[in-house]
Amino acid sequence: MNVRRISIFVVSLSIAACRQAAVPNAQTNAPPKPAAAVDAVPADDDLQATLWTQRAVEHDLVFREIYRNAKERLKKAIADPKWNALPLDERKGAVRSGPPAVILDVDETMLDNSPYQARLIRSGEEYDLRKVGFPVTGTDSLLGLGTVVKDCKQVGTNKGCRRQLVGRTHRVLMQFGDQIDDFVDVTANTPDDRAKSVQPYVDWIGQRWWMLPNPMYGSWVPAQFNNDWKQPRAARRRAEINALRTN
Ligand SMILES: [Mg+2]
Repeated sequence: MNVRRISIFVVSLSIAACRQAAVPNAQTNAPPKPAAAVDAVPADDDLQATLWTQRAVEHDLVFREIYRNAKERLKKAIADPKWNALPLDERKGAVRSGPPAVILDVDETMLDNSPYQARLIRSGEEYDLRKVGFPVTGTDSLLGLGTVVKDCKQVGTNKGCRRQLVGRTHRVLMQFGDQIDDFVDVTANTPDDRAKSVQPYVDWIGQRWWMLPNPMYGSWVPAQFNNDWKQPRAARRRAEINALRTN
């Protein structure tokens, strides 16, 4: 079977928030600010994480490594009629012999957020996933937040219903994402529950599930401070510091 005939489904938290290809773009370099201006910039805990994502060649290499290995593994997945990357409780009614499909998250998985968003604002363009080279074959393949799935109750921003929707017509061979929530629904967003949610599928990592690195943000952050964004920033930061391991 030709790899190009695999359907690509994009399951996004917010389609409107999608932005540019995940490979850093040196053309977006801005001139360095004078020392005084740099000193005036308030400290931001996300600085180095964002800098690494945008400027470190290591980030680019990790992405290349993951997608290259996934492409190789895909041949084995296609050849194995029992290969299925949907979580166990999302396979109900899923077809086993349907056309093969791959499910991808958008933000920080196939697209890098911030630079593209800025260009869209300047140019007035609308985003198009197809422009960055993924063979998305129509709007039916874009399953954004708000997608109504018959006989499946959407809970918050969980993606389970959208994954099930794909599984009703396709054999899902692989999933790609930058958060556990992209692969399986997390019932309670605590560090322990997140770890527990993925535990049955640990052997699928690097086989059926492909996790991309995103140190900038994600549901792992509020999990550190009980998901209470109403707390003062200092309190949230204290909880994050308390969550650090020192031995
Ligand atoms: Mg994402």
